[in-house]
Amino acid sequence: MQTHKLSLQDKLPLTCSRTGNCCHGKHIFLNPWELASLAKEKKKTPREFRNLYCEFGGILLQFNGKLGWDQKQACSQYVDNFGCSVHLGRPLACRLYPLGRQLQSEEVHYMFQGDEFPCLAPCPDVIELPHLSVGDYLKGQMTDAFEKAQDAYLELMQNTANIAFELLLDTGLAESGDKATLPLWREMGNELPEVLAERIGQEWIDCLMIPEISDNNSSAFVEKHNELLQLKIQEQFGSSQTHKEIREASVLVMGIALHLARGLGANPKDLAELWIDTAKSYGAQE
Ligand code: SF4
Ligand code: SF4
Repeated sequence: MQTHKLSLQDKLPLTCSRTGNCCHGKHIFLNPWELASLAKEKKKTPREFRNLYCEFGGILLQFNGKLGWDQKQACSQYVDNFGCSVHLGRPLACRLYPLGRQLQSEEVHYMFQGDEFPCLAPCPDVIELPHLSVGDYLKGQMTDAFEKAQDAYLELMQNTANIAFELLLDTGLAESGDKATLPLWREMGNELPEVLAERIGQEWIDCLMIPEISDNNSSAFVEKHNELLQLKIQEQFGSSQTHKEIREASVLVMGIALHLARGLGANPKDLAELWIDTAKSYGAQE
């Protein structure tokens, strides 16, 4: 599929026609800050929201509403003749649509995909509405806090994977000739999300997706979450001694990083391969 990279000055038909057509048939993945924002807007606790409206422990928003545009099911938060019931708390993907966003080497790129502008098929009238610059559109959608959360969670994901690396590489496990850890990392990269969530277990899934943090600032929220996760990992696995215990710890922590990766829109299979190659370059074997 063709990708059109955009500058902030590019003008596009970005005034929404408000038909809600794009709230049907999508896969909206969530990070924990987005889950907390949705819950707040819905006046539920994150746990209640997660249990009512999400899949795989909270990383995917349910689309189980009425059939609508193109015979696709509506988002669980979509209300007929009204629109999004959680507008102020909606996730980044919804704020950006029809644009996409990518962070590459600390540079952010906005883009849209396909041969034509994505709104044109569901909402052809959009062409007659005022055109906006990409920069003005993003400001109007108040993406800033959500972009910061997304980028901070990418860092948290890497920090978590780094702990799995340390457990394998800095404890003597890899040096002992261990060949069992990396195949398990790969297995998790290939696992269905429900299977990986099951493997990680409810306690860690809750710690990952519904942390008890009430900060309204997205960067502070993710910073506290990072501290909480690291503390829990330290408490649980700091005294691991046998190779078996250390391997189990490395696998679980890598599983948490891969599950979060999926919630951030990354591909766990590709990431697992990348991380396996990195570990091998430091002497790990499989
Ligand atoms: S497809 Fe575009 S114009 Fe139509 S409802 Fe979605 S964002 Fe608005
Ligand atoms: S959260 Fe709101 S904006 Fe996003 S898909 Fe659901 S109904 Fe649409």
